[in-house]
Amino acid sequence: MPPRFVADSMLGRLARWLRALGFDVFYDPLLSDHEVIARARERDAIALTRDTRFPDPADVEVVLIGGDHVSDQLVQVAREVPLDLEAARPLTRCTVCNEPLVPAARDEVWDRVPPFVYLTNETYARCPGCARVYWEGTHGPRIRRELVRLSEACLTGETEE
Ligand SMILES: [Zn+2]
Repeated sequence: MPPRFVADSMLGRLARWLRALGFDVFYDPLLSDHEVIARARERDAIALTRDTRFPDPADVEVVLIGGDHVSDQLVQVAREVPLDLEAARPLTRCTVCNEPLVPAARDEVWDRVPPFVYLTNETYARCPGCARVYWEGTHGPRIRRELVRLSEACLTGETEE
């Protein structure tokens, strides 16, 4: 079972990137620190925070994120949790609402993708929550490059400046 997360209000970009890699991340910018903890407890999830005064309850794992840049933040999570990047499933979760994506046929999404994408991509995935459409051609390479970068960073033990 891959780890689940609840991210605090300062970590919206990190939440989106973790979702792009396929991880379950609850994110609501309106939650207080105590609500983040409560959500993490409910979901058996790890709390991610940028707040140095964040509570540290015994029954919830809390990762205090150090860097300002999402690329450094991802490396920190990948190392500290740690994430099994080999088993990551990119493009399986909506980056906006965290819903697992469902496969969609080209004819179902033709009016929601650019014409070039329609012509060059056979397979799509759709979010049952917000109806956003995802496809490998444009989104896949960027996410896979990020996975490679993260795996390398975890191996070398160096953080990019
Ligand atoms: Zn969605």
